[in-house]
Amino acid sequence: MVADEQDPRRRIPRTDQLLGHPQVRAAGEAMSERVVRGIVRAAQDRARRGDIPPEQVLEEILAAVGERPAGSLRPVLNATGVIVHTNLGRAPLSEVARRAVSDAAGYTDVEFDLATGARSRRGAGARAALLAACPQAEDALVVNNGAAALVLATTALAGTGEVVLSRGEMIEIGAGFRLPDLIASAGAQLREVGTTNRTHLADYTDALGANTGCVLSIHTSNYRIIGFTSSVPIAQLAPVCREAGVPLVADLGSGLLQPEQALPEEPDAGTALREGADLVIASGDKLLGGPQAGILLGKREIIARLARHPLARAVRADKLALAAVEATLTGPTPPVLAALRTDPRQLRARTEQVAARLGAPVVEHDGRVGGGGGAEVPLPGWAIQLEEQLATALRSADPAVVGTVKDGACLLDLRCVPQAQDDTLTQAVIAARERLAGAPGPGAHSRAGAEPTTGEEQE
Ligand SMILES: *Cc1c(COP(=O)(O)O)cnc(C)c1O
Repeated sequence: MVADEQDPRRRIPRTDQLLGHPQVRAAGEAMSERVVRGIVRAAQDRARRGDIPPEQVLEEILAAVGERPAGSLRPVLNATGVIVHTNLGRAPLSEVARRAVSDAAGYTDVEFDLATGARSRRGAGARAALLAACPQAEDALVVNNGAAALVLATTALAGTGEVVLSRGEMIEIGAGFRLPDLIASAGAQLREVGTTNRTHLADYTDALGANTGCVLSIHTSNYRIIGFTSSVPIAQLAPVCREAGVPLVADLGSGLLQPEQALPEEPDAGTALREGADLVIASGDKLLGGPQAGILLGKREIIARLARHPLARAVRADKLALAAVEATLTGPTPPVLAALRTDPRQLRARTEQVAARLGAPVVEHDGRVGGGGGAEVPLPGWAIQLEEQLATALRSADPAVVGTVKDGACLLDLRCVPQAQDDTLTQAVIAARERLAGAPGPGAHSRAGAEPTTGEEQE
């Protein structure tokens, strides 16, 4: 079909006109030309199909260009009460860490000595901060994440030899990833010892031999075995490993560097090293409260062996993570630890204030550590109890508000919400209620009954 003079498609503005339009250019400053072209083409296509009149093309483009942030990740107010929520990006960075990341984002002296103009050791600042925070360690290395630290350690220490591990510590850390598979994927052989519920010192000693690369002790950070159980603590394992000349590696997961009063049962790197572990592994974005990173702390010669291994290059930390680790450790208490140590009375007073503005009841609600520590440890607290139907509307607020849907209610726990955002959260609830009240019929929120609980998280 040939378009004649009357064909409205002839009135669709041309691509070069649209791309050159001052308003499109201004609104599109934050995006690449390819992305803007895509938006222009989509609007023209809609007009060609007759979905919109040609006169509306520019308007549609301006709306799309204006709405689109540079990335698709959106900020969230975590009102679940789960502190290290993997689905919500684990640890929120402290203000100083955010600034450090921003400063390091351009050219930076990550491997350069500005005084001499010579090359310098990568990550020296993060290393110094780790050693200051954990003086029990002789040396430290930062890699991409906890899993990378584990693969690097077991591969560098065992090669294709054996990694001795208790059957009670063969854990899956989430999304189907299992630590034993991870270790084996780089060539080491797992030497399983003991049983699911009980492992004894003799199980380890029987397994040690010429082929042993290292003994691995993994903190079962996401579940607990209770009842008829026994495991061998680091302090007992250490002398046996030392005598056999086999390194003892402790994967703690959580990232606590020193004992934490709020979590007395949780292991920490300083104590594990003092008790005789040769190497400790932790995540940067769990209770350490920093960026995604794998933290390795321990004996000088072992860290040196790891740093020299070819895999070290494949798992190295980027400059942004190094900057954030350093700032997290040298700055004030990071948000994760602040949320963990929240004074219950203060949290209650704050919750009641917000609830009063919303005319909503306050109910008891336990917070959780979440990924990487304090499995099953309830952190007593409170939540604002709202209508269940608000959950969906709150998730589409800006910033998005994510609560927990439970027993027909939407619960908002302020433990992990920065206090400075209480007003934002209150306004989001008010706006969500207004939207619901104005929504056409029950169909608009008929999905509410099938709402998933958002308090679930996987490491
Ligand atoms: C979380 C965790 C890991 C994995 O760390 P990532 O930083 O998520 O890669 C490994 N071991 C233990 C014990 C953990 O808790």
